[in-house]
Amino acid sequence: MNDRKEAEALDRADPLAALRDEFALAPATIYLDGNSLGVPPKAAAARAQTVIGAEWGDGLIRSWNTAGWFALPRRLGNKLGALIGAAEDEVVVTDTISVNLFKALSAALRVQNARDPKRRVIVSERSNFPTDLYIAQGLIEQLDRGYELRLVDDPAELPAAITDDVAVTMITHVNYRTGYMHDMRALTELAHARGALALWDLAHSAGAVGVGLNDANADYAVGCTYKYLNGGPGSPAFIWVPKRHQNAFSQPLSGWWGHKKPFEMSPDYRPDDGIGRFLCGTQPIVSMALVECGLDVFLKTDMQAVRRKSLALTDLFIELVQTRCAGLNLTLVTPREHARRGSHVSFEHPHGYEVMQALIARGVIGDYREPHVLRFGFTPLYVRFVDVWDTVETLRDILVTESWRKPEFAARGAVT
Ligand SMILES: *Cc1c(COP(=O)(O)O)cnc(C)c1O
Repeated sequence: MNDRKEAEALDRADPLAALRDEFALAPATIYLDGNSLGVPPKAAAARAQTVIGAEWGDGLIRSWNTAGWFALPRRLGNKLGALIGAAEDEVVVTDTISVNLFKALSAALRVQNARDPKRRVIVSERSNFPTDLYIAQGLIEQLDRGYELRLVDDPAELPAAITDDVAVTMITHVNYRTGYMHDMRALTELAHARGALALWDLAHSAGAVGVGLNDANADYAVGCTYKYLNGGPGSPAFIWVPKRHQNAFSQPLSGWWGHKKPFEMSPDYRPDDGIGRFLCGTQPIVSMALVECGLDVFLKTDMQAVRRKSLALTDLFIELVQTRCAGLNLTLVTPREHARRGSHVSFEHPHGYEVMQALIARGVIGDYREPHVLRFGFTPLYVRFVDVWDTVETLRDILVTESWRKPEFAARGAVT
């Protein structure tokens, strides 16, 4: 592409173009960080008003029943499940990814311990998002039964690492830094062939790429709602457990929301039959209610259309950076192959942090991840092809003029 007009033409032909109107995004902002915190759907402000005024204010305690608060984790779980290839009653929206990983990993280890106590290894990647590794480390310490976390440095090493002492593989489908996407079906099959269970983290997949959990015969999955699903800062995460595993065991955070009859107020814990047993305690209803506004936008399209546009946006971005920013020290770290690419694109630059700060100062918001990585997330619901063009032109100008060298761009905030 040599001309902004070609990007404008792609936007005119884009079947998802109208969905941008569903979002409250400042017109001057190019937002390429929906992979970290999505943009608010316009409906969210009115929904928050209703939850706080009518439901909490007028309904008060009655709203647990009358406004459907108590059922919300399951109802939203079903709505979300459609985006990730889950069946009815296999997903609940609740807690954080970290907490849900603790539940799913505990459950998986428990199942495996009963089947074959010699399996003492959890396989993951060193490049996984750190909280996933921290949770595994904490659980291993807590169980104190000689479990081990085995980390590989490259996806190609996974087949050799999944040996017959592995209890569970804990893999993030799309890598948060590089954008590398695993073949979920093939890796799950491999894990099963070696007797292991497959736990998937969908943080950078849900709402970003097509996911078929049941098709892939996966065993457990977790993910968040504040990234591509536009649920809001800190909105509750989700956990998926297929029907075949739900009643085989219980998870250790056996709080009253996971009880079969919570309002019997029995002194004895009895887990719910089904996905409800993965709940723990009272949910943050104000925040959770807003998750629905993001999910409702997805009902106006489908994941095939979203994926098609995502690949077109990331293809164009890679092409433009490589042609218009050639020789400017940017190195692509995201796979070119469609089947291996999520919905964000990362480039390394020796002064990545400063370059990203210079971009943000000019209204192009991406983010930076250690070491040296400029990360650009493409959320097809509101990112346009002209945004891709304009981003690359701004990036080129910053690199050619070296305006990133201004001292203010070297200052670091607590969150990068
Ligand atoms: C964003 C992200 C998380 C976040 O975990 P929380 O507990 O919800 O803060 C976890 N894992 C991965 C892979 C992520 O990308």
